[in-house]
Order: sequence, then structure tokens, then C-alpha cells
Amino acid sequence: MAVWKCSECGNLVEVRCKPGKCSSCGAEKGKLIKEEAEKPPKAKKK
Ligand SMILES: [Zn+2]
Repeated sequence: MAVWKCSECGNLVEVRCKPGKCSSCGAEKGKLIKEEAEKPPKAKKK
């Protein structure tokens, strides 16, 4: 799951793959910026 943020209206879009347009303002996909999904901090083990 990835979260995309519209740089036009700030709408957050949660999708499994790349979204087409902002569902809120209809901005093109170039306006959508990928955000890191909220994850609990995880300790890395080696
Ligand atoms: Zn938008």
C-alpha cells in the first residue's frame, strides 16, 4: 500500500499502485507525490 499526496490540494490518496488522478481536485498524476506510508518503527535485525 502506498500513500500519494496531491501537491495541489493536499489530498491523501491511498492506493496499491500508482494513482491516475487526484480523486479530490482531479489534478494529474504528475502532481501526486509519493509519501511514505505510516509504519511502526521497526528495528532491523541482521
Ligand atoms: Zn488534489
